[in-house]
Amino acid sequence: MHLVHCNFCKRNDASLLFTGRDLLHGIPGSFDLVRCNHCGLIYLNPQPSVDELAPYYPEDYEAHVGTRKEQLGWLRRLDYRYGVEKRYRAISRYIQTGRILDIGCATGAFLDGVRAHGWQVEGIEPGVRAAAYAQEELGIPVQNTSLEEAQLKSESLDVVTMWNVLEHLSDPQTALIKISRALRPGGILVFAVPNILSYDHKLFQSYWAGYDTPRHLYVFPPPVLEVMLARAGLELAERRCIYGTYNAFVYSARFAMMDRIASQTTRSRLTQLLQAIPVRIMMMPLSRVVDLLNRGSIMTWFCRKVAAS
Ligand SMILES: [Zn+2]
Repeated sequence: MHLVHCNFCKRNDASLLFTGRDLLHGIPGSFDLVRCNHCGLIYLNPQPSVDELAPYYPEDYEAHVGTRKEQLGWLRRLDYRYGVEKRYRAISRYIQTGRILDIGCATGAFLDGVRAHGWQVEGIEPGVRAAAYAQEELGIPVQNTSLEEAQLKSESLDVVTMWNVLEHLSDPQTALIKISRALRPGGILVFAVPNILSYDHKLFQSYWAGYDTPRHLYVFPPPVLEVMLARAGLELAERRCIYGTYNAFVYSARFAMMDRIASQTTRSRLTQLLQAIPVRIMMMPLSRVVDLLNRGSIMTWFCRKVAAS
């Protein structure tokens, strides 16, 4: 673990927000989340190194294995396909075809869906097994490395996507600059990050899934992120909640139950109930309203590379 300065304003003046732990897998360790007194950026400090973080991304990490086709039931598969299509449709309002890179592409399910619309697709994925699946089973070209290590040709891409990745990176400002360089002028970056203005954050506070310590190294207040983008030559076009609202709610609810309900069996039953199909269907109109108000847990940002950068 090493102490870091604020990634945005470079100051070393932050206050403790809370001490968190791994609520997702229950792997031991405690982590201080701080808020910069100057700009408001929330970050883990001290930050674990890549090696220290590795145990917190086990082989069964949901984001890696959750999208292997053969492991999903038909309904989850349909739900996932719908999520991919929804995200694709949002992108196609800006650019209809071209070359797209998905950073943190996991098993390649999103790129697989986009390729079906005639796009040239490629991915970056540090997870060995997930990257191998995308390459071998789906035939998608993937650089099996981190964004920091990946080779990106300048001005070569029409679209870059990054679904729930930026908050995991140790230096998000440098990452945005690298991505911007790889985009052609007028190209777009679409990324999703935890929405600090969500109802879930208000309701669950330190149990909010958007914090996900220690995997999330940052939580971005929107004005800070806007300036970070501008510094990288990216202009905000739009931000909207378009997916993941109910799933994120279930995670937060599951985390909040941990210190309140002693019985593991009761907790699992309640989680199963929240995930049951009739409950999910019942909750759909409410999730839709939350999305329309932009108060869902996951905010998707659409940014355009300005010509002059
Ligand atoms: Zn700061």
